Formats: sequence, structure tokens, C-alpha cells
Amino acid sequence: MLTISSVGRRFPTGTEALRDASLRLNAGDFVALLGPSGCGKSTLLRLIAGLDRPDSGTLTWDAGQPPAPGEVGYVFQDATLLPWASTADNVWLPLRLRGISRDQAEPAIAAVLARVGLKGFESSRPRQLSGGMRMRVSIARALVTKPRLLLMDEPFAALDEFTRHKLQADLLALHASIGCTVVFVTHSIYEAAFLARRVVLMTPRPGRIAREMDSSVSHSADTRLDPAYAALVAEISQAMEAELR
Ligand code: ADP
Repeated sequence: MLTISSVGRRFPTGTEALRDASLRLNAGDFVALLGPSGCGKSTLLRLIAGLDRPDSGTLTWDAGQPPAPGEVGYVFQDATLLPWASTADNVWLPLRLRGISRDQAEPAIAAVLARVGLKGFESSRPRQLSGGMRMRVSIARALVTKPRLLLMDEPFAALDEFTRHKLQADLLALHASIGCTVVFVTHSIYEAAFLARRVVLMTPRPGRIAREMDSSVSHSADTRLDPAYAALVAEISQAMEAELR
């Protein structure tokens, strides 16, 4: 889908966020971008989204051009919902911006809300929902345009552990049924090992790709008990320690 070659990004403040970062993204991948805070993960995600441009290096899309806006979904750590709007109206937003009426959008809104487990909450306002449910609305909003690429920037970092585990499992089921490409930013080794088919470890700033690890984790109901999961956590931990040495 995308080849990122020797990308560098230095901000006008002088901060060099990325240096010589290279990565290949295949269609259908679930990639975790893992690294310590400030290593340039969000910067790389913004470059992939086309929200920022590199100072050096290239991003080459197999399709010959970057995806159109509706083909990329973006989910942030904060659910960033309109506080006065209902669940359904929040999910409608990206379609509304494309000139699609609420009536026209209704089937897509209903389908995506059912998919993220929010059937029955169409009329609720964000303040009536739990943090996990607000994040589900945010994911539904990102998916309503049927993106080919879903970019997620630490979406579960602010949730309690019980809610996070549930959302992680549900995200895997969503990915299995939708099949879009996911790039998931996290600073949690456990989260990366649980979710990703490929874990991309970044170095501390300026961020480079230190190592890529393929996962053989089963992604079944008992993933956290799978010896392959424990082995991957250990492998990532060792690689991270080697990077920080
Ligand atoms: P991460 O997502 O890994 O925590 P970021 O990509 O957000 O890291 O940031 C990498 C570095 O670049 C940090 O030191 C951050 O402060 C800096 N940075 C990010 N965005 C900007 C910006 N727009 N202007 C200046 N510095 C920035």
C-alpha cells in the first residue's frame, strides 16, 4: 500500500522528530508503531495521513497517489466528539462534510453503530456515555466513510484497563471483519503484542525504525494466555532495552 523511505522531519522549533525512518505498509496489515513518548510516532502517523510533509525522504503509494480524505480514518487519544450532538450526529459528521444528508447517511450510521456495539445509544449525548463508549463513537465516526486505512493514535491510553482490554478485543474483531489496514500508535508493549500482526519499534528521538517483529500470536479469545504472546512481549522488551542502552 505504502512505502516510506528515509523520511526525516525537523520542526521549525529545531526539534528533529524523525530521521531516516523507513517502513513498508501492506494492505490489510495491522501494524503497531511502538516507542517511548516523544519518539515521533504521532509525527509519522500525521505524515501517513497527509496532515504534514516530510523534510526529506518520500512516501510512495502503490496506487500512485495518496488516499482520498474519506479513505483514511483517524482516531485520537481523546474521542474529540461534539458535546452537544447525539451519537448518531457525531458519526454523521464526516459524511455531512461531504454533503450527504442525514437521511441518506442513516443506513451507514446505523450499520457502523451496530458494528461497534452502540445500537440503542443513537440519541445519547457524549456526557451520557462512558469513556469507552465515547471511544466507540469516535471509532464509528472514523469507519463510517469505509476507509481503506485506519490510523489510531493511542486511542485507548486514557481508558481503564478493563475497558481497554474489551476495546482491544473488539478492535481485532472489527479488523477481521472489515479488513482495512490499521496503523496503531502505542507506547504499551502489551498492547502492541496483543493487537498487531507486525510490531514496529521506534528509537527515542529522533525516531527511526529500530526493528520490525512479526507476530505469530493466535488472536483468539485467550490471546493473553498464548505462549506466543508472552514470547513476543519478551522479544519486544529485549529489543527495547537494547535500543535504550
Ligand atoms: P510521540 O507520538 O512518539 O509521543 P510526537 O511525534 O508527538 O511523539 O513528537 C515527537 C517530537 O516532536 C516531540 O519532541 C514533540 O514535542 C515534537 N513535536 C511534535 N509536533 C511538533 C510541532 N508541531 N512543532 C514542534 N515540535 C513538535
